[in-house]
Amino acid sequence: MQSETESTDHKISPALSAAPRELLEDVIKEFYLKVPSVREMVISKLLVNEGDVPEVFTSDSEEDSDGDENRPVKKDADPLEAKTQPTGSKRLRSRYARCINCENIFDVSKNTSQSCRYHSDASIPDEDLFPDHEECTHGPIDTPENRENYPQNFFYECCDRTLEEEGCEVSWHREDTFKRQRIY
Ligand SMILES: [Zn+2]
Ligand SMILES: [Zn+2]
Repeated sequence: MQSETESTDHKISPALSAAPRELLEDVIKEFYLKVPSVREMVISKLLVNEGDVPEVFTSDSEEDSDGDENRPVKKDADPLEAKTQPTGSKRLRSRYARCINCENIFDVSKNTSQSCRYHSDASIPDEDLFPDHEECTHGPIDTPENRENYPQNFFYECCDRTLEEEGCEVSWHREDTFKRQRIY
């Protein structure tokens, strides 16, 4: 029995990697519903108190302009108090969201003014760096393959950095709140 446990332990990681995401979601959901201790763990991993999420003022909504555009505001003053509350007595929300600037998934409770690096403009290829490429015979230069193979030949218009270099803007991750706000 013991050797059976040992033999599955090292097999579970590759099995998890290989499993379809939908199946993993179903497995977690099932455990969440049936096993109380798993339920608590899933809640703490995937949900967060609204009060622990810094509210980020968007800097690019042109109309609002009261200067302190990027200052975070804690909705609930005392994060410690929020942590000691039993789960369920606070408003909970999803812990993870996708950033509309860098497109990474981030933990909304760990978002800071330095969390996100991104470019404000799009990147385009420098055609002079593809001297042998004739678009009429080889097709367009700006393809996913060329971006993958020649990242040094594509430049962001905001800063002239290449695809290999980090973003010129440093800011908060920005959640796409449009959908959340539109749910009436
Ligand atoms: Zn840039
Ligand atoms: Zn980001």
